[in-house]
Amino acid sequence: MSDVRNVIVIGGGPAGYTAALYSARANLVPLVIEGANWGGQLMITSDVENYPGYADGVMGPAMMQDFRRQAERFGAEFVTDDVTKVDFSERPFRVWVGDDEYRAETVIVSTGATARQIGLESERRLQGRGVSYCAVCDAAFWRDREVVVVGGGDSAMEEASFLTKFATKVTVVHRRDEFRASQIMLDRARANDRIEFVMNAVVDEVLGETKMGGVRLRSTATDETWELRADALFVAIGHDPTTALFLDWLDHDEAGYLVTKPGSTETNIEGVFAAGDVQDHVYRQAVTAAGSGCMAALDAERFLTARHSAPRPEPAEV
Ligand code: NAP
Repeated sequence: MSDVRNVIVIGGGPAGYTAALYSARANLVPLVIEGANWGGQLMITSDVENYPGYADGVMGPAMMQDFRRQAERFGAEFVTDDVTKVDFSERPFRVWVGDDEYRAETVIVSTGATARQIGLESERRLQGRGVSYCAVCDAAFWRDREVVVVGGGDSAMEEASFLTKFATKVTVVHRRDEFRASQIMLDRARANDRIEFVMNAVVDEVLGETKMGGVRLRSTATDETWELRADALFVAIGHDPTTALFLDWLDHDEAGYLVTKPGSTETNIEGVFAAGDVQDHVYRQAVTAAGSGCMAALDAERFLTARHSAPRPEPAEV
């Protein structure tokens, strides 16, 4: 078991690495337990063109390498594995990776969220080659093309409306004959003459080997299948926050997103902070996640300073 650290950051995406960068530069020598599959949602993204500073765009995985390397440069330390248990009942907080226990005065939770997938092998294969989970990120690649959006909630309506800035035709495919979306979002989508709706249908297969050429739809009423030509598929069927380990400790909403105090990253437990998509189901952008990672590091630093008039314990070797 290691000695007590100043900060443990749980999660290795834009929020976690930014929290690590800022706390490393505050000389807190953070330990980042980044997950076995570090990098987060950007690892399944190809071109990122909306992250400020990358004027020519950047591949998602390369960008996460850059984030990680920058935090490492200032002394962040990494455990490339998944946290399996936490105990936030008292400080120092305790965090386990299997049998290995780590303790810290503060914890920053930045485990992110994952976009729900339809669950098709062809969907996985064509991720970043037509299949996307973020219209704001990828819509501009489909100027004057025809695209499909799956989902019947507010995200699907919002994404469909946004996509019509670029695509000539957007077909929304929804599995029922009633929408979950709010009336105002639905009305806006219905009033848009570039948007068509296919109800009572699901995407059964994404067509194409290395590049998407369309989708095969299946009627949920009759089981009949048919093909629809399209250049891209936007899956907008919701997100799931990665919060199972924290639900017994931290306040959360019905969907499992952690709740932070307005204007800060503080949770209901003093010394535990939450940053990024794990507490944000509205903006969900790499840049907003990074911004809240910065906030969490500053909040943790202030928390530690307020409690330690005496010098802090030296951070231990991992
Ligand atoms: P959501 O409300 O959970 O809607 C998900 C939609 O996807 C539902 O219509 C659902 O169908 C469908 N779906 C789920 N799994 C599916 C599957 N495997 N195959 C096909 N369809 C599937 O998620 P969301 O739209 O992302 O919204 C999440 C929250 O964010 C909501 O509270 C929403 O109001 C909010 N939001 C607000 C705004 C805004 O106000 N600007 C924008 C976006 C999101 P069923 O209806 O049949 O269950």
